Amino acid sequence: MPYLILNVIFMAKNKIVLPGDQVSTVEELMPGEGTFEENGVIRASRVGIFQPDNKHKKAVVKPLTSIPVEIKRGDTVIAKVNSVRSNMIIADVIHVVGKKRDISGDTNGTLRVSEISNAYVKDPSTEYAPGDIIRAKVTQVKPSLQLATKDRHLGVIKAMCTKCRHPLTLKGRILECENCRNREKRKIADDYGNLDLDKF
Ligand SMILES: [Zn+2]
Repeated sequence: MPYLILNVIFMAKNKIVLPGDQVSTVEELMPGEGTFEENGVIRASRVGIFQPDNKHKKAVVKPLTSIPVEIKRGDTVIAKVNSVRSNMIIADVIHVVGKKRDISGDTNGTLRVSEISNAYVKDPSTEYAPGDIIRAKVTQVKPSLQLATKDRHLGVIKAMCTKCRHPLTLKGRILECENCRNREKRKIADDYGNLDLDKF
C-alpha cells in the first residue's frame, strides 16, 4: 500500500507526522493524546512525533517541543486546508518551517483567491480541496492571519483523493489517485510529495 510506505519513509527520515497521517490501527493500539480514530484507523491530529505507549497500548503523537513559537509576517508555514469558499480558502497553520515547535496564538489563516497563484484564478475550488497540506507564506499576522501561495515553491505538498481519500501522486502536471484512477488539479508546489517540512 503506497500510503503506508510513504508514511514509513517519512517517519524514518524525520520522525514527524502530519495531521491525518495514519499512525496505527485499532487492532494494534488505542487512540491516545494527539491522535483520533476514523474507521478503525488511528491518525495524527497534530504535527508531532509518533511515539506509541506500548505499556498502555496507546498511540501517542507528541508535540515537537514544549516551547511554542509565534507566527510572524514573512514566515513560510505548512497549513492544512479546512474549507474552500467562493473567494478564499481557510487553512489551519500546523507548522512554521524551520521551527520544530508547537505554535502559539491564532493559527486560522485566510488565503484570498488573488493570493493563490500568479496566474488568474477565478474559483479557489479549482486549486485547493479540504484536507490538502500546503506550504504558504505569511503576508499578515494582525488583525487576521493572511497567507499567500504565489511562488512556485508554494502550494500543495500533499493531497488526498476527494473520492477515496487515497494520497494523490503527481503525474506530469496532474495529480492521480493510484487507487481509483481519479485525476485532480491543484496549485502544487514545485516539490509536491517532498514531505521535508523544514525545507524552504
Ligand atoms: Zn481515489
